[in-house]
Amino acid sequence: MEIGRRDLILSAAALALTPRALAAQRPNRPLGYAIVGLGYYGLRIIIPEFANCKHSRLAAVVSGDPAKARRVAAEHGLSDRAIYSYANFDSIRDNPDVDIVYVCLPNSMHAEYTIRAAKAGKHVLCEKPMAVSAAECEAMIAACKAADRKLMIGYRCHFEPTNLEAMRLARAGEAGKIRYVRSEHGFVQGDPSAWRLKRALAGGGSLMDMGVYSLQAARYMTGEEPVAVTARESTDRRDPRFTEVEDMIEWTLEFPSGALAGCQSMYSANQNRILLMGDKGRIELEPATRYDGNRMWLGKDGREREVTPPAGPAKTQFAGQLDHIVQCVRTGQEPVVSGEEGLRDMRIVEAIYRSAREGRTIRLDGRA
Ligand code: NDP
Repeated sequence: MEIGRRDLILSAAALALTPRALAAQRPNRPLGYAIVGLGYYGLRIIIPEFANCKHSRLAAVVSGDPAKARRVAAEHGLSDRAIYSYANFDSIRDNPDVDIVYVCLPNSMHAEYTIRAAKAGKHVLCEKPMAVSAAECEAMIAACKAADRKLMIGYRCHFEPTNLEAMRLARAGEAGKIRYVRSEHGFVQGDPSAWRLKRALAGGGSLMDMGVYSLQAARYMTGEEPVAVTARESTDRRDPRFTEVEDMIEWTLEFPSGALAGCQSMYSANQNRILLMGDKGRIELEPATRYDGNRMWLGKDGREREVTPPAGPAKTQFAGQLDHIVQCVRTGQEPVVSGEEGLRDMRIVEAIYRSAREGRTIRLDGRA
């Protein structure tokens, strides 16, 4: 079959518009991010981090506040064409400058914007918690799979040197056989009108927010998947902050090796701690999962010493996370914190709530 000159020009033009074709032409160009939700995390924490990235750049902003979006765009040299609202977000499909959409919205909006981004042909980095139910997580994974796009969850601790070193020490058996992990995360949530305290937007209380760090720590410190969970909640329902969601919740995870993890989250005290006890020693992190200043100690042979982790390859955990999905897009590898990882957590979160509600142990391994 003869291919005409016009066909060739047309197909070359079509190819030139796709992000994949652009990436093929300039394989090492930094990939462009659209930040969805210009709030505390998206605007104050993530956007400044592009300056620390090697492979990522800000390409667009998505916001419900046009004046704020224009200001942020102007500050970062973006044109008006790089500004989207929630209403016209889907037209981001026509913007070849945007390769990755970073969802920094309230929890109950994560699924919708991840799925819309995937349908627009974009890779997705979605903040934690991945969504507000396991069913939503499954739909997000399916949408990204159907669109052949990467999906990564904003579990920044997997790019944070202290936590990475703690995982390495635990795996290397520095504390011996792991018997127990304790992880507690919380902060004082003072504003009763905050979306984090509204069930429709947050999906739950402290568990959905800080509890995810405690749960993640229990899994990445042991390197095991829990087989059962027993949970208990304590919330003062007369407190105007806690009419819709829980304040404090604690849960015990049982692991196949026999190790236990006692985890907790709360909105009525500041805490940020991980402790691992092995039969030969202990690994302790406090603060454990902050943006910076995390510290770690290794106790064994009757001595305790502070461990300074080796510097990571990235300037900061945020830059490491932003550049990681870019590398995954380029190489085809799965993100170390994929959608499946977020789904595993959300299944456990649902079991924690169920255990607290029903006052019994919930098996996670399908056994009765
Ligand atoms: P903020 O309330 O500060 O920002 C959320 C933004 O979402 C708002 O500024 C707004 O942006 C947009 N938005 C759209 N619809 C709504 C709505 N109905 N109510 C409130 N905001 C809305 O929240 P955070 O930035 O603290 O949290 C956002 C996400 O990031 C959460 O999922 C949270 O768990 C996660 N997070 C992760 C952290 C981490 O360390 N990994 C740390 C902090 C948060 P606009 O005005 O532009 O429309």
